[in-house]
Amino acid sequence: MATVKCSACGGPVEEEKALPLGSDYPGEVVHDDDGCIAKARERIDQERGVKDEVSKALRILFGQVNGSSKSGATLVRCLTASVRLEHRTLQQGLMAALKGLIENYAEFDEDLRNQDAVEWARKVKEAGRDCYLRFI
Ligand SMILES: [Zn+2]
Repeated sequence: MATVKCSACGGPVEEEKALPLGSDYPGEVVHDDDGCIAKARERIDQERGVKDEVSKALRILFGQVNGSSKSGATLVRCLTASVRLEHRTLQQGLMAALKGLIENYAEFDEDLRNQDAVEWARKVKEAGRDCYLRFI
């Protein structure tokens, strides 16, 4: 019998018994259980909020690198100075998130416009394969 993954608890659900979360949550299925339904909706809604905030921040960062390699250098200096001012636990948390981004970016489609970045990401991913950044 085929199973799918519950969007809330991650456990297997028999495909026939999997409950779609509804049109506001396309592709998401859960156990037919009030706890899983509420938990999945809460997680997805929270992720949507984070995604919106991250998208706003990235628009600012992309604006700084758009059309000029010199702006990229300015952005690096400003990012470095800003990160240095933050709590070291937050610094490590940010670096862990960036590590995850780099690992995912290594799998991105590429053409000449991002080829160097994807190849670099693959090398960094391989070099950091055994490195885990703890939350302390
Ligand atoms: Zn579940």
